[in-house]
Amino acid sequence: MTKALKRIADQYNEMFSGLSATEILQKIIETHSAKAVFSTSLGVEDQVITHMLMQISQDASIFTLDTGRMFPETYEVLEKTEARYGMRIKVYFPDYKAVEHMVQTRGINLFYYSIENRKFCCQIRKIEPLKRALKGQEVWITGLRREQSPTRQDMRYAEWDEGHRIIKVNPLLDWSESQVWDFVRDNNIPYNSLHDKGFPSIGCQPCTRAVESGEDIRAGRWWWENPDTKECGLHKGK
Ligand code: SF4
Repeated sequence: MTKALKRIADQYNEMFSGLSATEILQKIIETHSAKAVFSTSLGVEDQVITHMLMQISQDASIFTLDTGRMFPETYEVLEKTEARYGMRIKVYFPDYKAVEHMVQTRGINLFYYSIENRKFCCQIRKIEPLKRALKGQEVWITGLRREQSPTRQDMRYAEWDEGHRIIKVNPLLDWSESQVWDFVRDNNIPYNSLHDKGFPSIGCQPCTRAVESGEDIRAGRWWWENPDTKECGLHKGK
């Protein structure tokens, strides 16, 4: 099964380079239906994908991870999105026992004190719930764009994710930031109000800050770390 899915990932990558983002999503939903899931962080790119999916099928499977450290604005856009499209986004939470143990042993804001602590927190609050969300699925749709981060330069439209053993599909891979915003405005899509306050990339509240104009779009995420290490492990690559 794994070999077959790896081969399909390569075939999709070739096929998808000539298709629009909506066409890519159509193909995925037609072929994999209930075995395809979209993980949304509720950031602006992900709102584009949610909108496209809802035009294709109201039954498209969409989930998000609630780490317990989100901004209030993120919950607001979650609620607005569900109201706009008349659907529910499935919310995955971390294992409460693991969170309690982590906070008891390392402190509530452990992530500021070492990269190891930060990765440990991401592991418990994001990666373990993500694994549960992806279990048994064939395709994982994301809203990642190449220009978002130095760690995303080698990404493909479709690729085999060895860590999660799933085909990862990135329909907005080569979209520019202005293309994303034009699409959002043209379609009146709800978006996180923090984007208007200098937050191009929005994660957990204690690990995200606003950026200055001209600064790298991921500069506000784990700003105390080296840019080349700044992935939370959700999108670590092949
Ligand atoms: Fe923890 Fe920060 Fe990672 Fe959120 S982004 S899971 S608060 S380390």
